[in-house]
Amino acid sequence: MSNKIYLSSPHMGGTEQQYVNEAFDTNWIAPLGPNVTGFEEALESYLGNEKHIAALSSGTAALHLALVLLEVGSGDEVICQSMTFAASANPIVYQGATPVFVDSEPNTWNMCPEQLERAIIDRLKLGKRPKAVIAVHLYGMPFQVERIQQLCKAYDIPLIEDAAEALGSTYQGVPCGTFGDLAILSFNGNKIITTSGGGALVCPSEAHKKRTIFLATQARDQAPHYQHSSLGYNYRLSNISAGIGRGQMEVLDAHVALRQQMNSFYKMQFSGWNGVAVFTEPDEKFVSNHWLSCITIDASITGFSAERLRHAFSEENIEARPLWKPMHLQPFYKEALFYGNRVSESLFDSGLCLPSGSNLTDEDRNRIAAVIDQFR
Ligand SMILES: *Cc1c(COP(=O)(O)O)cnc(C)c1O
Repeated sequence: MSNKIYLSSPHMGGTEQQYVNEAFDTNWIAPLGPNVTGFEEALESYLGNEKHIAALSSGTAALHLALVLLEVGSGDEVICQSMTFAASANPIVYQGATPVFVDSEPNTWNMCPEQLERAIIDRLKLGKRPKAVIAVHLYGMPFQVERIQQLCKAYDIPLIEDAAEALGSTYQGVPCGTFGDLAILSFNGNKIITTSGGGALVCPSEAHKKRTIFLATQARDQAPHYQHSSLGYNYRLSNISAGIGRGQMEVLDAHVALRQQMNSFYKMQFSGWNGVAVFTEPDEKFVSNHWLSCITIDASITGFSAERLRHAFSEENIEARPLWKPMHLQPFYKEALFYGNRVSESLFDSGLCLPSGSNLTDEDRNRIAAVIDQFR
């Protein structure tokens, strides 16, 4: 059997180990240290726009602290994109708050502005002012930034931007991760860059960053003994992991370009194929890092389903996966409120994520093309 081809696997650039070795050589194994600061500085200079970034143990932790900073608590409602990874929504429940899910729109697969406004108006009518909106750049595709920002501003609701999949994507030339009142990044093993596990909270001020770091390191007050006047968390990124992140930042742009080339590869493979659409930017305002390349298949035209193609890949030891199953269809969230139609549901029924890593080889691409050819 040939090697397994993964959807997205870690791709080291080369200098990661040097940064990690430095941490060993200086015995800076404990959390914090020069790699954490260096990684944060690299991210701040990459995103620009005067953002202040706190490196954390995961993207999920970053979302949790975003909600804590916004004082989301028991009885509150938070609006969240339904079509996403569960980690976008779960921290709402950690805080004892209630998620209200909103459907996608077909161009970006992300939060539908019309359904968002419907949800906001409806919740306000019931005297339930949403405490925040969580919008996601799914698969690296920017959401409808202008319209979502406009709505959040008009109704005075903070926007949390889940950019876990979108480091390296831009909207109107501005990097994703800089649009929300707060934004989160993820450096999990399958993401565009990895620290083996990690995340970050993108803050609007140094004061927000300080507060985030304070909360992420057990909320210790200034005192010789252990004194706490707030509830703390153990969410800081370690100096070892941050060393991997520093090396990864050096190859981020190159790896984004390679993912975008994978997307072009799929466009070629499926060009002129009725019933198969490669997920692509709606217009030139949107630039996706194409973290994952995805397709939708209209089985009534092609005669085969996404599931059949997935099985064919699997038989050749190639990983392909259905799209994110919307949260309003998840057993855990079956009681949750949902504003929408069937957009995310039908994407889930017809879509497929294809191998997209920046480390795929010509041989890998040939194996992938051979499977696709079976369906021609
Ligand atoms: C990966 C991911 C997260 C969570 O990040 P972790 O670092 O794995 O905790 C959140 N939201 C989205 C959309 C993600 O893809």
